[in-house]
Amino acid sequence: MKYYVLFGPPGAGKGTQAGAMVTRYHLCHLSTGELLRSEISAGTALGLQAKALIEAGNLVPDEVVEGMIEAKFLNTKGVEGFLLDGFPRTLAQADALDAMLAKTGQAVTACVSLMIPDALIHERIAHRATIEGRADDARPEIVENRIKTYHAKTEPLIEFYKKAGKYQEINGVGSIEEVQERIFRTMDQY
Ligand code: AMP
Repeated sequence: MKYYVLFGPPGAGKGTQAGAMVTRYHLCHLSTGELLRSEISAGTALGLQAKALIEAGNLVPDEVVEGMIEAKFLNTKGVEGFLLDGFPRTLAQADALDAMLAKTGQAVTACVSLMIPDALIHERIAHRATIEGRADDARPEIVENRIKTYHAKTEPLIEFYKKAGKYQEINGVGSIEEVQERIFRTMDQY
């Protein structure tokens, strides 16, 4: 099984690119953000716990997302791998992922990182806010906090995957098709 980490700051285009990636490489798309938003819509206890954190632009606890991911690994059949979108987001989650996969002698295949400058993050999120209606996209101070959280807690993963020899950076600036082409060129190598 292939395990791709789809990495990048908020608004880098991870959700936009994920569809074509899962189709081409027969992957299961696992977005922790989407999984959390469906828990919130379903009104579960987990959703209630996550809602306030997400709406403030903070991360939900590591154990919560790790549990969701491991459950999906165990219950998903008939795919050639997984595309992890928005997970891991902390070094602790990256270690937990490695440990989860090591139980069955597996490992992360590659970290596919979509990079855009901070200025474009604001522009892309403002655009998405008009389309998707996400509460955490609507308020500038919340977006600011998500970007701050990304730099403080998530960006260290770049070094983590570089050290592991698994880091593949892709320029996320350009049309959807241009970026998709760059991603395919990279992922075709695995
Ligand atoms: P996303 O859809 O990936 O932008 O995620 C939306 C929000 O869900 C984030 O701002 C976090 O509050 C929460 N979230 C998603 N994935 C994670 C994760 N791996 N760890 C902690 N919180 C997460």
